Amino acid sequence: QPVIGVLALQGDVREHQAALTAAGAAVRPVRRPEELAGLAGLTLPGGESTTISKLAVLFGLMDPLRAAIREGLPVYGTCAGLIMLADKILDPSPGPWGPGETPISGQETFGGIDMIVRRNAFGRQNESFEALVDVTGVPGGPVEGVFIRAPWVESVGAGTEVLAEHGGHIVAVRQGTALATSFHPELTGDHRVHELFVHMVRTES
Ligand code: GLN
Repeated sequence: QPVIGVLALQGDVREHQAALTAAGAAVRPVRRPEELAGLAGLTLPGGESTTISKLAVLFGLMDPLRAAIREGLPVYGTCAGLIMLADKILDPSPGPWGPGETPISGQETFGGIDMIVRRNAFGRQNESFEALVDVTGVPGGPVEGVFIRAPWVESVGAGTEVLAEHGGHIVAVRQGTALATSFHPELTGDHRVHELFVHMVRTES
């Protein structure tokens, strides 16, 4: 059974562990660089991406994780985890800027998906909401998307596949073995997106 890590610095770590276990994976929390050894995949929980970013630097995980992802470690990030997988972030947001005019945030990410992500994109009136989302590759109908101060994906590069949109905005993407959703399947008890990730990991390993 492949062991899938859950980045356990901050955020909904336990919920990811539970979802992965339900999806048939063996799970290990990851806080230190040594704990990356032997992993078949890794999920990046939702939470607060600036905090996760700072803690990753503090725990010495920023560079090892960047390298592991670049070398092909399968990863799945939800919400703040999606932000951490972005090659570029727009922030603060939503701002009075149009696309292309927004300052690129200095916030550090692991990267791995050729996309520009806008943090807190869905705005004040709509900070948290639920919506049914059709996700390419997830069988059995739409999933309940839980969006909490969620980012959206402003644009993607050529090698990136858009798996879902909501309200005209990209909310799920895949590039090779990297998967990301703006919403939190780990909070719903519906484990199909985590099953898709476990399947991606099994196909790789
Ligand atoms: N707004 C958070 C951020 O910018 C993400 C929220 C979440 O993970 N639910 O990191």
